[in-house]
Amino acid sequence: MMDQTQDFFHKKVKKSVALLQENISGLRQTVLQTKRFPEEVWQAMAQVGLMGCLIPKEYGGNHLGLLELAWGMENFSTCAYASPLPMLTNMAIICLVRHGSDELKKKFLPKLASGGIKSCVAATEEVSGTNMFRIETRADKKEGRYILNGSKIYISGADIADKMLVLVRTKTAAECQKEGLPKTFGLSVFFIDVRSSGVTLEKMPTRGEVSLQQNIIRFKDVKISEEDLIGPQDMGAMVMFDAINVERVLGTALVLGVSQHCLDVATDYAKKRNVFGEKTIASYQAIQHPLAETKIRQEACRLMMEKAACFFDEAADPSQVGFYANMAKYLGAELGLKAVDAAIETLGGKGFHENHDLIHLWEQARLFKTAPVSNNMILNFIAEHTLGLPRSY
Ligand SMILES: Cc1cc2nc3c(=O)[nH]c(=O)nc-3n(C[C@H](O)[C@H](O)[C@H](O)COP(=O)(O)OP(=O)(O)OC[C@H]3O[C@@H](n4cnc5c(N)ncnc54)[C@H](O)[C@@H]3O)c2cc1C
Repeated sequence: MMDQTQDFFHKKVKKSVALLQENISGLRQTVLQTKRFPEEVWQAMAQVGLMGCLIPKEYGGNHLGLLELAWGMENFSTCAYASPLPMLTNMAIICLVRHGSDELKKKFLPKLASGGIKSCVAATEEVSGTNMFRIETRADKKEGRYILNGSKIYISGADIADKMLVLVRTKTAAECQKEGLPKTFGLSVFFIDVRSSGVTLEKMPTRGEVSLQQNIIRFKDVKISEEDLIGPQDMGAMVMFDAINVERVLGTALVLGVSQHCLDVATDYAKKRNVFGEKTIASYQAIQHPLAETKIRQEACRLMMEKAACFFDEAADPSQVGFYANMAKYLGAELGLKAVDAAIETLGGKGFHENHDLIHLWEQARLFKTAPVSNNMILNFIAEHTLGLPRSY
C-alpha cells in the first residue's frame, strides 16, 4: 500500500515521462547527432524529486529510498536516453548521507536534492582496472590539508559535472602490507570540485554511452581541504561499498527501462509489418519467442533488483545487499543484450537505421556487461563468497 508521498511521486514521474515521450524522437536524434548531455531529462528527473530519494528531509530530500528511486529511473529510462549521470550523482549522495560530516551534508545535500549539482565518480585507473585496491592516486596530508596526485581513466561525465567523488590512496598498498594491514585499508574518498586548480581533463574516444563522454583526469598537486574527506581516512572501501551497491541497482534500473523501450518498439513494429501477404510478422513464433523471453527475463531481473533495493533501504549489511545487487546487475546485463537483439531481429534492416536508435542501444547494453563491474567478476564473487569455492585469481 502506497503512502501519500509515494503516490504523489509516482504520479509526478508518470506525468513527466509521458511529457518527455511526446518529443522523445526529436530529443534522441539531437543527442545522437550532437552527443550532448540531455539536460532536459536531468531537469525533469530533478523536478519530480528523483535526486532527493536518498536524502533525508532535513537536508532537502524526500527520503523515499532506493526502491522508489530505482522505479523512477526505470520509468525515465523507457525514453531510451536516461543518462547514467543521475546514477553516478546518487553514488556521491549516498556516501554523503551515510558517511559524510554534518558540515558536508548541510553544504551539499540540499543542492544535490534539487538537481543543482551533478557529480561524476572517479575510481578506475589505467593500471588498476578491475582491481580497485590497486589504485595509486595518492592524497598526502600536509599542513592541515591533502595534496592529490595521480590520474583516473574512463571517467564518465567529468566534463559536465560540478563535483567528483574520487577514490584515492592515503596509505599505499605496500605500506599496508608492511604494517600487516588488509589491502582494503588505506583507501579514502573525497568530494572535490572538478574545476579545482591542478585538475585537467582529456576527452577519450570511447563509445557506449551516447550522452556521456569519458575522460582521463590528471591530478597535479591538487589542494583539498580536510573537510572534503567523506568518512574516516583510510576507510574509504567501507564508504565505497554503499555507493557500489547503489550503482548496481540503478544501473539495472536503467537497463530495465531500455528493455521496455525495445519491447515497445518491436511489438509495435511487428504488428504493422506484413512481408508475405496474409499475416503480419507479429504472428510468427520466430518473432514472438525472443520478445516473450525478454519479458520473462525483465520480470525476473526487476524482482532481483527490488530485493536488493529493499535490503539497502532497511540498511542491511552491505555484503548482503551486494549479493542481490550483483545478481541483479548480472541479470540486467544479460537482459539488455537479449532485449536489443530481439528488437533488432524484429525490425530486420530497420534495426540498423539511425532513426530507430536500436543499434546505439546495443553498444549501451554491451557496455553494461563490462562496466561498472564485469559479469565475470560477479561470477567470481558469487563462487567465492556464496558458494565458498576457492578464489580463482
Ligand atoms: C564507457 C565506459 C564508462 C566508464 N565510466 C566509468 C566511470 O564513470 N568511473 C569509473 O571509475 N570507471 C568507469 N569506467 C571504467 C570501468 O568500470 C572499467 O572499464 C572496468 O572497471 C574494467 O577495467 P579495465 O577496463 O581496466 O579492464 P581490466 O581490469 O583490464 O579487465 C579486462 C578484462 O579481464 C576481465 N578480468 C579481469 N580480472 C578478472 C578476473 N579476476 N576474473 C575474470 N575476469 C577478469 C575483465 O572482466 C575484463 O573483461 C568506464 C568504462 C567504460 C568503457
